Amino acid sequence: MPEQHLNVRVKEVRDLVDAKGFSSTPDRFWEMAALIHTEVCEATDAYKKGEPAERVGEELIDAVIRIFHLLSALGLDADDLFEKKMAKNWNRPYRYNTVRGG
Ligand SMILES: [Mg+2]
Repeated sequence: MPEQHLNVRVKEVRDLVDAKGFSSTPDRFWEMAALIHTEVCEATDAYKKGEPAERVGEELIDAVIRIFHLLSALGLDADDLFEKKMAKNWNRPYRYNTVRGG
């Protein structure tokens, strides 16, 4: 069994949002998914404006925090999902057989 690094952070986020009065019911999926997008957009905007990398990173961490919140709301095991998905990705071909981007 892998160490539970991500799940520790997911619980940290859940403790914070609970303490701050935010709800974490799975029916908020659409709203929470949209809010993840807003943080990625904020990171994109900060990068576009030439803000320091740390400022861009702060927005990316906001996205991670919101992703952890959503994982918690859905009752998912982040470490297990991460391990399985990374194993799947390692088994994919070079550049995942894409032609453009990636
Ligand atoms: Mg933000």
